[in-house]
Amino acid sequence: MSISISALPEAQRGQCPAQYSFGTGFSDHMFTQAYDVGQGWHDAQIRPFENFSLSPAAAVLHYSQEIFEGLKAYRRRDGGINLFRPEANAARFNRSASRMVMPEVDEAFHVEAMKALVALDAAWVPGDDGSSLYIRPAMIATSPKLGLGAAGSYLHFVITNPAGPYYPEGFNPVSVYVSDECRRAVKGGVGEAKTGGNYAASLFVSEAVARQGYTQVLWLDAIEGRYVEEVGAMNICFVYDGQLIRTPELSGSILPGITRDSLLKLAPTLGYEVEEARLDIHQILDDIASGRITEVFGCGTAAVVSPVGRMAMAGREYDINGNETGPVAQRLFDELTGIQYGEREDPFGWIVPVN
Ligand SMILES: *Cc1c(COP(=O)(O)O)cnc(C)c1O
Repeated sequence: MSISISALPEAQRGQCPAQYSFGTGFSDHMFTQAYDVGQGWHDAQIRPFENFSLSPAAAVLHYSQEIFEGLKAYRRRDGGINLFRPEANAARFNRSASRMVMPEVDEAFHVEAMKALVALDAAWVPGDDGSSLYIRPAMIATSPKLGLGAAGSYLHFVITNPAGPYYPEGFNPVSVYVSDECRRAVKGGVGEAKTGGNYAASLFVSEAVARQGYTQVLWLDAIEGRYVEEVGAMNICFVYDGQLIRTPELSGSILPGITRDSLLKLAPTLGYEVEEARLDIHQILDDIASGRITEVFGCGTAAVVSPVGRMAMAGREYDINGNETGPVAQRLFDELTGIQYGEREDPFGWIVPVN
């Protein structure tokens, strides 16, 4: 397989603007390839960013047969660019694909496509502290067919977007509301897959908690309404006595975050203990109240580490570490971003340089 590249002439290319924000404003080019049952994957291209033409009957528009990924390209101090664990993203993309009955992609080819796209649009990778180029791979079902069933044709694409530091003024702990009625995902469902419908379904609750002044929803398991799963679109960690980091074990309904996995591997090398376990929300709230839990933080590609300063459930509010960022969250953030930006050693071989 090879990628045909039709790049904009130099004079027509843009670059990362002075003002940019996550999720809006995209770089000059995109990667696309098409799939159908007869030909398999074909027509791999890097070409100027533009709108797609889709049938109004395209399956994705009706039945949400869609998956996506999220990772970042980081500008090193020497001007080069790093990707962080792109093979892990590619592997998860394929796990999501098979759960949604979509064709898998060649993982090495998908990583090569991302590298080639980022290399071509290198001028869009910001160099400001804490900034990055967000990479969004996705796949949609394009068959024009309203009959319910797995589609026969698909589009795989990658777009990129310059993203500023998640916390431009330093860490800002978020407040979290424990949803006692609505659930994100159920064992046996699609919570493990990065598929659009999960996020559409969560908007109702995130809007409701935002109206009450909270930034994120903490999701409990759907069967007993008792075990902690995730916070917003991040995994969650609880720090005991400044030393032990506990996170919910992958239950089948939790999205297996690459940041989560990286922290579980990195933290022991920094002298912390880590544990994956079933975490009962009532025990967690007791441990916050008693002070045994010294920090809570979410983790994901966007924020890396996102301290939680307040948590509320059933009308009662709990303060964590005086609503301040704690030393464990700060240390993990510094160490992991240090690896991503090439400032620290990379003992795990997580970095894939683009150039
Ligand atoms: C993407 C995502 C995460 C975090 O995954 P990372 O690979 O660390 O970015 C966690 N939870 C949900 C629901 C997600 O969609």
